[in-house]
Amino acid sequence: MLPLAYLIKENEPLAPYCSMRVGGNAKYIVLPDSISALGSALRDLAFKGERFIVVGNCSNLVFPDSGFDGAVVVTCGVRGVSCGADGTLEALCGETLSSLARCARDNSRSGLEFCHGIPGTVGGGAFMNAGAYGGEISQRLTECTVLDNNLEDKTVSAAELGFGYRKSAFADKGYVLLSAKFSTLPGDRNEIAAKMEDLMARRKKSQPLEYPSCGSAFKRPEGYYAGALIEQCGLKGTRVGGAEVSEKHAGFIINRGAATASDILELMRLVRDRVLKNTGVRLEPEIRFIDTEF
Ligand SMILES: Cc1cc2nc3c(=O)[nH]c(=O)nc-3n(C[C@H](O)[C@H](O)[C@H](O)COP(=O)(O)OP(=O)(O)OC[C@H]3O[C@@H](n4cnc5c(N)ncnc54)[C@H](O)[C@@H]3O)c2cc1C
Repeated sequence: MLPLAYLIKENEPLAPYCSMRVGGNAKYIVLPDSISALGSALRDLAFKGERFIVVGNCSNLVFPDSGFDGAVVVTCGVRGVSCGADGTLEALCGETLSSLARCARDNSRSGLEFCHGIPGTVGGGAFMNAGAYGGEISQRLTECTVLDNNLEDKTVSAAELGFGYRKSAFADKGYVLLSAKFSTLPGDRNEIAAKMEDLMARRKKSQPLEYPSCGSAFKRPEGYYAGALIEQCGLKGTRVGGAEVSEKHAGFIINRGAATASDILELMRLVRDRVLKNTGVRLEPEIRFIDTEF
């Protein structure tokens, strides 16, 4: 028998893989370290009829306390990023958004500075159409290679990916992102570096980065800021179990140390209901709750 091209851990706790540090055990955690190993893993799982989900850094995901009855395929070992002569960056799905930004900077290419400090991967960033400080993935991603829902390789253009505010068509189409290309503009390395440092300083100043979280818990409702609405309702510091509405940034739900996935969910429902009652604005979660209705 040939050795497997990927590592499998059985009945493995999910919390250490997730930035919120909650979640039960996964039946399997699968850790490929290349595109071909990722493809083999998914084909093997499909052949066995095993349910699976592909994740990056789990920085926007909450798995239930009961865990995941299937395989969680973690791509963060599938790394690599390079810059072509025309300034196109190409990155594998598990590359971090921060190192994508650093690669652009090191090649004096501008346009991806906003990625610096978003703690996700290229795959998760494309799925979520991650963005910050006026930039978002859809402005720069030109095309990507995916596995379609028959697990066959395909190249798709950005126009086919249905990008919107913190959304894309990856889920509807059943695509797994393998690699992506990004367009950039020529720039001055020092200016790019200064912009990246400034954005990171702004994050450190305004966000509770010392606690586990998934970043902004809710999407920005049109015409408002979720954090401002939550603060206006007097919810800063509200706790359910170990979950808390951050005192530093009301848009963040943090894990004070011993939170469960149910604590996070219950607190977010409480916040949603209070904001709706007091302001008439309905908050939608940005965090993705796996196997759980919000
Ligand atoms: C401190 C902090 C700050 C943050 N700041 C920001 C911010 O400024 N802007 C912002 O937009 N977000 C922010 N986030 C949220 C999060 O980092 C982003 O949503 C990020 O894009 C998620 O990437 P990920 O690799 O962690 O994806 P995951 O959380 O692992 O997955 C997210 C979704 O993408 C899917 N997915 C992952 N990889 C693939 C793939 N290869 N193919 C297909 N689907 C895939 C998963 O199934 C899941 O549905 C922040 C989070 C934290 C903890």
